[in-house]
Amino acid sequence: MAKFVLIGSGLAGGLLAAYLGRRGYDVDLYERRADPREGNIVDGRSINLAISTRGIHALEQIGLAHEALQHAIPMRGRMIHPAGVGARTIFSPYDVDPKKCINSIGRAALNTTVIEAAQRYSNVHVHFNHKCTDVDLDTATAHLVHTGAPVAAGVSPANPEDQIIRARGDAVIGVDGAFSAVRQSMQMHIDNFQYDESYLAHGYKELTIPPAADGSWRMEKNALHIWPRKSFMMIALPNPDGSFTCTLFWQFEGPRSFATTKSDEDIRRFFENEFPDAVPIMPTLLEDFRQNPTGSLVTIRCAPWSYRDKVCLLGDAAHAVVPFYGQGMNAAFEDCVVLDECLEKFPENRESAFAEYFSRRKENADALADLAIGNFIEMRDKTASKTFRAKKKLDHLLEAALPGIYLPLYTMVTFTRIPYAAAAKRARAQDLLVYTSLIVISAILIGVAVWFAAR
Ligand SMILES: Cc1cc2nc3c(=O)[nH]c(=O)nc-3n(C[C@H](O)[C@H](O)[C@H](O)COP(=O)(O)OP(=O)(O)OC[C@H]3O[C@@H](n4cnc5c(N)ncnc54)[C@H](O)[C@@H]3O)c2cc1C
Repeated sequence: MAKFVLIGSGLAGGLLAAYLGRRGYDVDLYERRADPREGNIVDGRSINLAISTRGIHALEQIGLAHEALQHAIPMRGRMIHPAGVGARTIFSPYDVDPKKCINSIGRAALNTTVIEAAQRYSNVHVHFNHKCTDVDLDTATAHLVHTGAPVAAGVSPANPEDQIIRARGDAVIGVDGAFSAVRQSMQMHIDNFQYDESYLAHGYKELTIPPAADGSWRMEKNALHIWPRKSFMMIALPNPDGSFTCTLFWQFEGPRSFATTKSDEDIRRFFENEFPDAVPIMPTLLEDFRQNPTGSLVTIRCAPWSYRDKVCLLGDAAHAVVPFYGQGMNAAFEDCVVLDECLEKFPENRESAFAEYFSRRKENADALADLAIGNFIEMRDKTASKTFRAKKKLDHLLEAALPGIYLPLYTMVTFTRIPYAAAAKRARAQDLLVYTSLIVISAILIGVAVWFAAR
């Protein structure tokens, strides 16, 4: 059986290792960080995230959904916190079917679940503290630095001398995230490799709402909370321990921005003006704001995603998207399913398998990148408007009246496995039909009213 060298045991790396292990391949998985089970998650990208149909399907295919979702918290809709002191929250369900929900899940726990699933296959070996620096594409060899055994806080490194390691396989798969070293090697060595990265002017910072004294949630538990403020927003997702993880998405620069809000006084004034209902339940706001890093939000598009039968990219390494559709991980998990199907279809021809995987995924990854940016505007600005909420109600009415025929875009992206590009196309056609019908109906009503008035 062929041997795969995987770089990165994040969410997609662990799951892919399990899929490849099940198919009988030898897998060596190298991760630059320490084992997450030792509590060493550093530069983790978010404490919790939303998993929906595509991600759950990928877990189901390998028998992991039940285990992974046992502590997940269903979120049935958006709880909107309008601006202004005393403004009442408004709940907007995600779907006409109240059973359809997205699920808040802890990143570290999910990461551990997929890594342990991979390790149940004796042909899968996971190596932590190994950082890939370069890949020799022609020989499918990853160059790695072994940074020594994990060191507990406050203890000097036991083994300060890093070792250089070469890991050779039949193929190397880069599952090493948005700033992928494998992709960088492809960029350097493949002629005409297309690469595009674009950053939002907004960054993000995570903050905490701790549990109440009795361990319960201080806001509605089964909802994704949003404080839309037109050019920026805060969201909060529930955790199993009764807390919420809030994420503030705000401009890096500008008159009111991360750059200009430094003193305790500035921070407190900003939050009291913008999120007055949240401040009393955020006792560690000032410490969180000062101590937690401000992350950037990048979209990465590249092509091709593979080199002969030797190297391939998957997940954020191939297509990082901004997080506003809650689909980056879901899409990365869907990649695992598709790559597995392609390897099954071409068991003796990995180059064809990689090529088919790319052709099935690329246009969908590009479509998702656009949808994710569009949804930022929807979340931070439109969710606060009555027109938007009326459109959502109309969407749900049409979905109920025309089951299987009319599907709102959010439903297609989140609660089905319709390819992203097809979902976006179908939503455009549906919108055109709905708006044209509304214009025609309005014109008829006005015509009738004028006719009656003229009699
Ligand atoms: C704030 C925020 C919120 C998000 N919320 C959601 C959400 O609600 N739902 C959703 O579906 N998605 C969400 N996402 C997106 C999601 O986090 C990513 O799409 C997902 O983590 C991609 O998985 P991955 O395995 O491809 O990459 P990653 O999870 O980034 O894993 C990459 C792994 O590779 C390792 N690595 C990197 N470089 C090297 C190297 N040189 N050598 C060895 N190892 C290396 C890293 O340490 C890491 O373990 C969110 C993202 C952000 C930033």
